[in-house]
Amino acid sequence: MTVDPYTPQSGDANIRVERYELDLDYKVTTNRLSATATLDVRFVEPAAAFSLDLVGLRVKKVRGAGRFTQNDRKVKIALAAPAVAGDVVRVEIVYAGAPKPRRTRWGTLGWEELEDGVIVASQPTGAPTWFPCNDVPSDKATYALRVVTDPEYTVASSVPAVRGTERGRAVWEFEIAAPTPTYLVTLQIGKYMQEGTDLAGIRGRLFYPRPLADRVHEDFGELGRMMAVFEEAFGPYPFPGYTVVVTPDELEIPLEAQAMAVFGANHIDGEHSLERLVAHELAHQWFGNSVGLRNWRDIWLNEGFACYAEWIWSEASGGATAHAKALAHHERLSVRGISALLADPGADEMFDDWVYKRGALTAHALRLTIGDEAFFALLREWTARNAHSTVQTRDLLMLAEEISGIPLAGLFEAWTSSTDLPSLPASAERSDAAAPLTEPILGLDRTARRSRR
Ligand SMILES: [Zn+2]
Repeated sequence: MTVDPYTPQSGDANIRVERYELDLDYKVTTNRLSATATLDVRFVEPAAAFSLDLVGLRVKKVRGAGRFTQNDRKVKIALAAPAVAGDVVRVEIVYAGAPKPRRTRWGTLGWEELEDGVIVASQPTGAPTWFPCNDVPSDKATYALRVVTDPEYTVASSVPAVRGTERGRAVWEFEIAAPTPTYLVTLQIGKYMQEGTDLAGIRGRLFYPRPLADRVHEDFGELGRMMAVFEEAFGPYPFPGYTVVVTPDELEIPLEAQAMAVFGANHIDGEHSLERLVAHELAHQWFGNSVGLRNWRDIWLNEGFACYAEWIWSEASGGATAHAKALAHHERLSVRGISALLADPGADEMFDDWVYKRGALTAHALRLTIGDEAFFALLREWTARNAHSTVQTRDLLMLAEEISGIPLAGLFEAWTSSTDLPSLPASAERSDAAAPLTEPILGLDRTARRSRR
């Protein structure tokens, strides 16, 4: 049975994995992984067997279950005894191989060797390139990672790792306690400097190659202020800390992981040129990571709000207002014909730029309709009520109506379930729609803001 129509081959609809314990032994120079994954698997309906996603790695043994078979995408495991609904079965899967990215319609995903190290970039279906999993966004679990690797490398993690040694090799151990879908779990191995930083009271951590130190310090210098702006706009930051990794290699795009973001060397230039991406990735911690997706079709709930956060940050940091950004992007989108729906763009288009921009415009249209006070109250209630859970578009509509007291089905229909691009609504609060909508933005004192350079 298909769990998510956008990734029909992924996941097993009859299981929820409550916890993954990944014990990984990895040799960087030879790209050799030997691992044991211990999973607590809960059954929704009675079952005699279940399946996990695993790509490019070979299972050697399964403990705590019966026979297993493996093809190029799945491991099918028979249970030692039939499970009834609600049973939790612990299975231990011993596997090994030379991990590599998998080819998908969204490009290559998952485990990838850098010039000197490793990154994992899994959205949406790359996780099975490094561990056996129930690879759907709706299944959130906790994780314990133990990584044994060569001592000259650092394993970057979202929480401080315990580092030890074992037969001349380094051992890194850490726990991901917040419920996390498989695609947001990552492994970053490299020759990194590591430093702590305070982000408006949230513990920040930076990992970067030593030669990039100055650029990193400059380009992430606004992160604390950004955290403060976003906490005011979106509610409390949902994780114990925030980690930024900058790889020595260039990356096509930055990527979000749980309580973490990964940037390529090409994304930082010491001049804040791509600061919007820094804002975008941080915003994903609220939109996408804590408040997750039940199905990929609602990807706009992640990307639209992360994109809207870029506009909020632009305004808060003295750049163009969110409203000016919205007008400009509305004009650009209006000349582009789109044949898909925002709330169901289709698997091929789910990461297309129009989804991001129309998603952000939908957020702005909602803001113009219900007013700033109700809009930001909505965002804070949205992230509080759905923290560490999953949502769909209908949930946002219902909460927006509840908080604003305004019927919004027509607005949602026009923006998310129709191909025509609606006009931006007139502001409920301003007759001059071109004026900045919030002044001062979110109560921040403009004059107290440090200039960017
Ligand atoms: Zn994004």
